[in-house]
Amino acid sequence: MDVVIFGVPAWMVRGGAFVFGLLWGSFLNVVIYRLPLGLSVVSPPSHCPACKKPVRPYDNIPVVSYAVLLGRARCCGAPMSPRYVIVELIGGLLSVGVLEIVVARTPPAAPGWLILAAFVSQFALCLGLVAAAFIDWEHMILPDEITLGGAILGLATTPVRGAEWVDVLASSIGAYVLVWFLFNFLYKKLRGRTGMGMGDAKLLALAGAWFGWKGVCFALFAGAIQGTLGSLVMRLVKGKIELPEAVKAEVAEMRRLAEEGDEEAKEALLHDPAAEAHDGFMQAAIPFGPFLILGTLEYLFLGPHVMPHILGFLVTPW
Ligand SMILES: [Zn+2]
Repeated sequence: MDVVIFGVPAWMVRGGAFVFGLLWGSFLNVVIYRLPLGLSVVSPPSHCPACKKPVRPYDNIPVVSYAVLLGRARCCGAPMSPRYVIVELIGGLLSVGVLEIVVARTPPAAPGWLILAAFVSQFALCLGLVAAAFIDWEHMILPDEITLGGAILGLATTPVRGAEWVDVLASSIGAYVLVWFLFNFLYKKLRGRTGMGMGDAKLLALAGAWFGWKGVCFALFAGAIQGTLGSLVMRLVKGKIELPEAVKAEVAEMRRLAEEGDEEAKEALLHDPAAEAHDGFMQAAIPFGPFLILGTLEYLFLGPHVMPHILGFLVTPW
């Protein structure tokens, strides 16, 4: 790419974007930990998960603090999960990635506010999706704040990306209704339980709101292929697919409430596939959300490059 971006040396802009992304990655760690527990993501300030002491600002520098402290908390010496650093680095890399696609895809004469809006909105999408992927992986839940909020952000920023209103609106609603019909209506009638969560349907609605019908198809197929591979690898490595620890604890808690006579817990247990897997009636499945998210992110970065080839191949496969 050019040596200069927006009149500033390119290495400076990229470096700035990376540090900006690391800081947001650090915030993502807070969101991933607190959102599924129903806690506020802004207060109280960070504290050590082991001994609950507040983390000092100079010990809260992304990546650097982890390296300086050799992966142990200064307060009590408890080991810090490498996941914190991984999430921070993902934030940094996605920020640089979004900068690159914004520079490559915005017309040269575009006004500054449009470039800024394109960067902020697409980086916000990335952050939301990464948080949702980790939360779904650990809790088997996709928060509405992210899936529905992300879909609304996608629809609202349609003009920024030069997308077609009709395409994004119809794809978003269409994807949601299709998944609901296939997996929550038809599948339920045939098999007596749901095949795909409504969280996944909302995630596909998000893909439609951002990328239209092509994005929905890409995310679904790329997600399904990678999900199948992921599930295969997990079976090979671990022997069987285990429910995440957090989900096991949640099911056990619901069981306890149900035994105490809580009608709501009884009702929830009846329809929860995780509860069946927990009791050994059926094989646990890995959550699909992280793979749908992977497919959606791949479409954001690669879609305009690979989609013409895929469509061309479908039309003339010889
Ligand atoms: Zn501590």
